[in-house]
Amino acid sequence: MKEKYPAEVSCPKCGSLIKFDMWTHVDSELNIEETFELTSGSFFRHICPKCGETINIYHSLGFIDPRSKTIINYIQTDEDEEKRAEYVRNFHEFFTKEGVDIKSKLVFTPDEFIDCVRRVRFEYTLPAETANRAAF
Ligand SMILES: [Zn+2]
Repeated sequence: MKEKYPAEVSCPKCGSLIKFDMWTHVDSELNIEETFELTSGSFFRHICPKCGETINIYHSLGFIDPRSKTIINYIQTDEDEEKRAEYVRNFHEFFTKEGVDIKSKLVFTPDEFIDCVRRVRFEYTLPAETANRAAF
C-alpha cells in the first residue's frame, strides 16, 4: 500500500484550498519527520497558506515501529461500540494468523493514537493493560 496520497480541503475561514498529504501509515524508521510530527502532536494540524487558519484533519492512520515490533492502527469511524469491538477482534485475529511476534493496538481517537505513539517511541512499550500480543 502506498504510504501517502495528495489531498485537499477547503479552509473553513477563507475557502482557499489547503493541500496536504493523506498518509496511510507512518514507519518510524523510514518516516522520521512524520514520526516527529506525531509525537509532537502536530501531525494532523494544517495551516491555510492564505489566511493562516489552523485546522485539524483527522483520518485513519497506521503507525509502525520496527524497533519495538509494534503496530498501532487508528481507525476514524462513527460506528458504534459493537462494530468497533468487531474491528478489534478482526485486527488481533489478523496478527494471530500471521504468527508474527508483533505488539498491536487498535484505537478510535486521535488522542489515544498519539498517546500510544509517544509511549512506543519514548517508553518503548504500549500501556501494559491494553497491549495485545499475538497469541500462538
Ligand atoms: Zn484560509
